[in-house]
Amino acid sequence: MNFVISLFVIVTVIHITPVAIYYLSMRRKAQKGPWNLSLDEDYSPTVTLIVAAYNEANTILNKIRNITELDYPADKLDVIIVDSASTDGTPRITEEYLQNNKPPFKTFLMEENRREGKAKALNHALQQASGSIVATSDADCLWTRGSLRNALKYLSDDSIAAVCGQEVLLNPKDSSATRTESQHRDFFNLIRLGESKTHSTIAFEGALALYKRKLLQRFDEDCDDSGSALNLVQQGYRTILVPDAFFLNPFPSKWSVKISKKTRRAQHLVGLWWKCLKLAIRRKLKLDPWISAANVFLYLINPFLFALFLGTIILVLITYPFLLLLLLLLPFIAIVPKMRDSLILYLTNHLFLLYAIFVESSGRKQVIWKK
Ligand code: GDP
Ligand code: MN
Repeated sequence: MNFVISLFVIVTVIHITPVAIYYLSMRRKAQKGPWNLSLDEDYSPTVTLIVAAYNEANTILNKIRNITELDYPADKLDVIIVDSASTDGTPRITEEYLQNNKPPFKTFLMEENRREGKAKALNHALQQASGSIVATSDADCLWTRGSLRNALKYLSDDSIAAVCGQEVLLNPKDSSATRTESQHRDFFNLIRLGESKTHSTIAFEGALALYKRKLLQRFDEDCDDSGSALNLVQQGYRTILVPDAFFLNPFPSKWSVKISKKTRRAQHLVGLWWKCLKLAIRRKLKLDPWISAANVFLYLINPFLFALFLGTIILVLITYPFLLLLLLLLPFIAIVPKMRDSLILYLTNHLFLLYAIFVESSGRKQVIWKK
């Protein structure tokens, strides 16, 4: 076969096959695999729920009401809201509400006098956390009534140090930005669930995460929630995504907002897997080798193969200009919404990752972000 075509075939195969195989094997595990855990359905430890809030005047009261509706004994739950010098009156509004509507659980409003980022704020709050479980959530997301109880039961097993819940988008049909995000969620939730059944997933979401207090020295300030999960895996424990605890999030329907949010998330994940790779090279990583290898491939290697893949497509088109006729098929793809969204998702995700790798390698870290 001609050189250009061979190159194209090889690049396509190594770009796509590993991801497809990993996805299918994890999906199988997620759907059919056993948990191998011994769970106590009535496990009811004391829980301190920390909500970090920066400029959340519009959401914080709904959040408090949402916590009030959780199916959990109020005497076993206390809440710390940690504000980092919000400029929109978040602490004043919260204080007023708490004075007028005494929630059934203990609530403490902690006010930092300057903003140094969410992870630092969580660590300040952690010093005051007295529950045997520490949970985190965001001010702008809502938990379903059973979320806390459903997530907690997995912590009744001694091998589990932390659990996280799954995100459900409140507005999946709003726009192409939310449709693609919803597809992305479905794809990765299955992978994370499969990884959790295999051993652990460390791609954690702080919007619904629960940790055993005695095992969590600090929240990780480099790689956020996922970094905290990694530290627990390194201590020999499992950290898992659970199938029956959900948090509901409105997702930005504008691409401009989505891009800044996704590049920030991509930076965390790239930083996380870079850290794992360095640990693995020193033979210190305790995560399952297949899970580590697949994610290092997915986050650190495959974005470059994506660029190479696009490059070889261009090379093929230059060599065989008549193949440009295939571009006539593009409008047909664009007609089928699911295919169009998948294509957009595929392209944008790899671009976010390439950008994140570039930022990570330049050593710039985003600790605070525009709200
Ligand atoms: P996203 O959902 O990942 O895009 O991030 P958000 O902007 O919604 O932030 C997640 C949570 O952290 C929200 O409850 C924010 O109010 C909160 N947050 C963000 N930055 C800070 C900060 O510097 N200090 C505190 N205390 N909370 C913060
Ligand atoms: Mn948010």
